[in-house]
Amino acid sequence: ETFAKVIDGKRVAQDIREEIGVEISRMKEEIGIVPGLAVILVGDRKDSATYVRNKKKACDTVGINSYEARLAEDSTEEEVLNHISKFNDDPSVHGILVQLPLPSHMNEQNILNAVCIEKDVDGFHPLNIGRLAMRGREPLFVPCTPKGCIELLHRYDIPIKGKRAVVIGRSNIVGMPAALLLQREDATVSIVHSRTKNPEEITRQADIIISAVGQPNMVRGSWVKPGAVLIDVGINPVEDPASPRGYRLVGDICYDEARKVASAITPVPGGVGPMTIAMLLSNTLLSAKRIHNFR
Ligand code: NDP
Repeated sequence: ETFAKVIDGKRVAQDIREEIGVEISRMKEEIGIVPGLAVILVGDRKDSATYVRNKKKACDTVGINSYEARLAEDSTEEEVLNHISKFNDDPSVHGILVQLPLPSHMNEQNILNAVCIEKDVDGFHPLNIGRLAMRGREPLFVPCTPKGCIELLHRYDIPIKGKRAVVIGRSNIVGMPAALLLQREDATVSIVHSRTKNPEEITRQADIIISAVGQPNMVRGSWVKPGAVLIDVGINPVEDPASPRGYRLVGDICYDEARKVASAITPVPGGVGPMTIAMLLSNTLLSAKRIHNFR
């Protein structure tokens, strides 16, 4: 029995961070500029606080200055907009991100629209998404998680052009931009979502699957064409009494079954997860380079 090659996102993310660190030192030395990332966190969701803490730590390791605005759960939309406006005008800030989800009394659209597109390192501004969708246009930034998926394919020399790709999930932050990116890379793309009938008939045709659903082990071995490449974005807690925390994290793809069929697969954790933050750092560096016209 042969098993799929494991795509080591943790190692690739580490390589990318080192490359970014080198570029940041060069930028500092040559033009005296250090990239800066501002994060806006509203409310006290534990998971959001953890993500923000990890982003700050990652910035520290590569030498990006990080700025943080923490607002109470009951703050107003106007207060959030004021912080965005301040960061938009601050020349030491090259990237702005608003940690989602926002409290339900706020209008996410208004808030994401307020981030100036030159600093939209999450790539969620509708102008950046629109450019991503249009032929002959270039977005200033591409959303980090889907960008990380494509980067993994590139770094493992997995061809995309002319291949059949299936994206499972169509969210604004992962599935939809992942499908657009694959199409830009000349794959033939199908999108499977919660209303798709017989999804396994579609996934079985795929040379490449990117899954971003949020359902543990949904994609079974029988859904996968022999030799397919599997990128699993899902991060799903499942009960596990044997683990000290009482749960462990699994992907959308049933790893033990799929690795017997696929040619390459990302593990969860240690696959796409670490790539997301690496791409955020990369987008922040890209932004600082562009703003200061540094090559
Ligand atoms: P959303 O809940 O926003 O979107 C899920 C998508 O999956 C929707 O398009 C939904 O369809 C589709 N879906 C749900 N159930 C099924 C089903 N049974 N069959 C087919 N499609 C289905 O999730 P996100 O995109 O934000 O996140 C997806 C997963 O990725 C989560 O596990 C999340 O934790 C993880 N994630 C990981 C990141 C990382 O690695 N850094 C970053 C972001 C997310 P419909 O549109 O019809 O509702």
